[in-house]
Amino acid sequence: MQDIVQKILFKNANVRGGLVSLSNVWHDMLAHKAYPAPVTKLLGEMTAATVLLSANIKFEGATVLQIHGDGPIRLLVVECSNTMQVRATAKLDDTQTIAEDATFQDLVNAHGKARCVVTLDPHDKIPGQRPYQGIIPLEGATVSEVIENYMKRSEQLDTRVWLAADANNVRGVILQRMPAQLDERGVALTDSAKDEEDWRHLVALGSTLTPSEMLATDIATLQHRLFWEQETANFEPLKPTFQCSCSREKVGNMLKMLGQSEVEEALKEKGSLTINCDYCGKAYTFDVIDCKTLFSSASSSEAAETRH
Ligand SMILES: [Zn+2]
Repeated sequence: MQDIVQKILFKNANVRGGLVSLSNVWHDMLAHKAYPAPVTKLLGEMTAATVLLSANIKFEGATVLQIHGDGPIRLLVVECSNTMQVRATAKLDDTQTIAEDATFQDLVNAHGKARCVVTLDPHDKIPGQRPYQGIIPLEGATVSEVIENYMKRSEQLDTRVWLAADANNVRGVILQRMPAQLDERGVALTDSAKDEEDWRHLVALGSTLTPSEMLATDIATLQHRLFWEQETANFEPLKPTFQCSCSREKVGNMLKMLGQSEVEEALKEKGSLTINCDYCGKAYTFDVIDCKTLFSSASSSEAAETRH
C-alpha cells in the first residue's frame, strides 16, 4: 500500500476532489506512541482530512487541524505542510479510561465544550504577521462531519469527506464544490440546477464507501470504482512523508517560557531535564550547564533588545 495523495478534477462538474492513502508514513507517525485503538482511529481520520485539505489549498505553509476536547482526549493535532510533510499527536487525560467502543462524542466532546481550530501558518512570516486561525465549536458526531461543518461555516464551501483509519492504514476521500464562476457583471456562468444535480450525484457515489472497503483498497482502485463514469483529470500525485520540525532550539524556547525558577526546581530533583517531542518522540536533554546557558542567553538578548 502506498503513501500518496491524488487530486482530481471533474471535467463535467463544478467539483474537485482528492484521495489519500497512508501506510508507511502512518506507521512512522505512530512509532513512538501507544494510543488506545479509538484514539488511533480518530487521529488517523484527522490526518487524512488534514492532508486532503492541505493539498487543496494554494498556500505556502502548514495547515494545522486541532480538536480541543473536554473528555478523555484533551487535544488532537495534525500538521501538514504544503510539501506534504505530516506529523500528528494526541494528548490524553490520564485520569480517564477509554472504552474500546467509545464514540467520537464520548472521547472529545463529553461536556459539549470541544472546539475545532484550523490554522494556516505561512512559512515566511513577515514580522508581526499572525497565522490565520479559524475557531468554531465542535459540531458533528464524526471527524467527517466536523470538517464538513467547518468548511461550510468558515469557508462557505460545500465539502464532503469520507475517512477511515486503523493502526495500519489511513484513507480519505474528499469532494468539494467549487464556487460558481461569475462573469464581469456577477452573473453565474454555470447552470446552478445542473451544478446542484452534479454535486448530489457525486456525493451519492462517495456515500457508498464503507470504512472497511476503504482500508482494504488502494486509492487508484477506489477512484475507479467510484468515478469510472465521470470524466476526470488527475493531477500529478503528491507524496506525503512523516517529518517532524522539532529542534533543540524550539525545546529550549519552551523551557525559557516555563521560566528560570520552574526549570531550576525541576533540575534540583533530577539533575537534568529530558523532554520528548510529542510528535516524533525524540528526546532532548538539558543539564544544569545547558539550562544556565539558556537563561543567560535569554537575559542577554532581552538586554540587547531594550537597548535598541
Ligand atoms: Zn519531533
